[in-house]
Amino acid sequence: MARHTDTIAALATPAGTAALATIRISGPDARRLAGEIFGCVLAPRVATHCDYADCSGSAVDDVVATLFAGPNSYTGEDSLEISCHGSPFIARKVLADLLARGCRPAGPGEFTQRAFLNGRMDLSQAEAVMDLISARSERSLAAARQVLRGALARHMAELVDGILAALATVEAYIDFPDEDLPPEDRSRVEERVSAALRGTNLLLATERTGTLLREGIRTVILGEPNVGKSSVLNRILGSERAIVSPEPGTTRDFIEERVNVGPHGLRLIDTAGLNPDATGIEMLGVNRALENAAVADLFLLVLDATRPAPPLPPPVRDRIFSSNTIVVLNKTDLLGDRDHPVAVPPDGYQAVAVCALSGDGFEPLLAEIARMAEGLQTTVGDERIAINVRHAHYLAEARVCLEDALAKIAGRDPAELLASDLRGALNAFGEISGKVDNERMLDQLFASFCIGK
Ligand code: GDP
Repeated sequence: MARHTDTIAALATPAGTAALATIRISGPDARRLAGEIFGCVLAPRVATHCDYADCSGSAVDDVVATLFAGPNSYTGEDSLEISCHGSPFIARKVLADLLARGCRPAGPGEFTQRAFLNGRMDLSQAEAVMDLISARSERSLAAARQVLRGALARHMAELVDGILAALATVEAYIDFPDEDLPPEDRSRVEERVSAALRGTNLLLATERTGTLLREGIRTVILGEPNVGKSSVLNRILGSERAIVSPEPGTTRDFIEERVNVGPHGLRLIDTAGLNPDATGIEMLGVNRALENAAVADLFLLVLDATRPAPPLPPPVRDRIFSSNTIVVLNKTDLLGDRDHPVAVPPDGYQAVAVCALSGDGFEPLLAEIARMAEGLQTTVGDERIAINVRHAHYLAEARVCLEDALAKIAGRDPAELLASDLRGALNAFGEISGKVDNERMLDQLFASFCIGK
């Protein structure tokens, strides 16, 4: 366990005027400072209403102070939380006083860093704290909460256990280079490595989900000029964000807004109409639309229900599929006595008839967007784990090591080489959690070791 000799302090709430401001302190002096400042012994985990007096003895504010005794605190150290009135001036005075009393201003993420260094959480959980704070949708919140509660750490521990068990068997043969792994050990090792590889691939498959949750599902509204794209955007946002005009080519650039649809966070992008005859600025707008289409996760392809749908430009045609596109048949109010829209959606595509003027059909449209957004995401069993780029990097590294290990098992390569791949995979997992658990490896190794062999 890392021991910090200094005590850190920082404002834990946003700077600015609010009902309350909370100042957080962590380190060996937290308890002593509480006694000095409040003139009493604070019982741990009891919110106590007391007067804050600065070093010179002048009253600063009446506050609520809570002491968290280490190791059962967020950071694992003695910590103190002081909630004062939410005036930036008061908060600054409290902070300045704490610094005058010997605290050091905390660096970014330093409380969580201490929590990690003190073994209160692994690296993936520490990262989940950031995801939790920046979550903007039910799904991203759920994933961050599950990882914070150790879901990723648990899955990785299972994989690590399997690899350790395989390594323990392999290590037993390293000292006997002439001895081949007997078939039963070989197949047990192979099974374990294959299982670890499957588990690694399952986790890796959540990388896209992670991006969708963290960045929002990039949903691009496409269609010809004047079919009602901006009107559809405004309806979904519930505000007049984009200019709606009977004049074609009004949206020259693209407009991007964040919106939640059910539990999903979307980045909704309204683009310029796909006009094949566009020139000048309009053409730049069409190019922007195509650029957005190239990186979109979901498409709302808006058609004017009263007219036959024109062919799509090839770059769009190549990106849209029935699994990522909803056809929005707009202007159904103009169909008159017709039973069916004139525009025909491409075969197999989900189509929703709407009227952006009245809002008719938007409930089913939103339900369809939510259904499709769900389909883009992966879960691990019933757990919502959404790995980040760093995790993906090391998981990919682990995957290579495990694949190499399987090739070596098949090729009856020396145990030493196989062990080196397995250690490589363990190291990659260790990078994700922030530790390589050698002690556990040794325990397992000797537990499965056969004396005299
Ligand atoms: P965009 O160019 O595709 O973004 O289309 P706009 O949203 O600017 O709409 C073009 C024109 O169609 C405007 O005059 C809108 O009022 C009209 N419009 C949009 N949706 C509907 C609809 O559902 N019904 C009718 N009748 N007009 C609509």
